[in-house]
Amino acid sequence: MATPEDCLFCAIAAGDIAADVVRSDEDTVTFRDTNPQAPTHVLVIPRRHVADVSEVAADPQLAAALLAGVAATADLLGLDAYRTVLNTGAGAGQSVFHVHAHILAGRPLSWPPG
Ligand code: 5GP
Ligand code: ZN
Repeated sequence: MATPEDCLFCAIAAGDIAADVVRSDEDTVTFRDTNPQAPTHVLVIPRRHVADVSEVAADPQLAAALLAGVAATADLLGLDAYRTVLNTGAGAGQSVFHVHAHILAGRPLSWPPG
């Protein structure tokens, strides 16, 4: 499990690794995914290192800030329809263990997801 010292997304939040940042606030940073799965594909992360949804749920203030970051990003990008995905666990596709909300938009999104 990544720790803040060796965590890719902590490094992006700190500005130590470059990313295409579209928005940031006191609690969250939003940047473009380097392997986009839709015309708009950005990731919203908390600045504080938490691994997954369970750890977010333990901090209601952080949970609210993360969702506020999603909504503010959608507003900023003018998205009227978008999908938010939080993969939890390697079996569900989580590959970076610093929680991140994917925002996908700009193409039809089928349901159920694969
Ligand atoms: P997960 O698979 O954990 O839900 O999502 C991780 C996401 O991070 C993937 O969509 C992947 O493309 C993205 N990603 C991995 N490394 C980097 C990186 O160095 N920079 C950016 N901007 N995105 C990354
Ligand atoms: Zn981290």
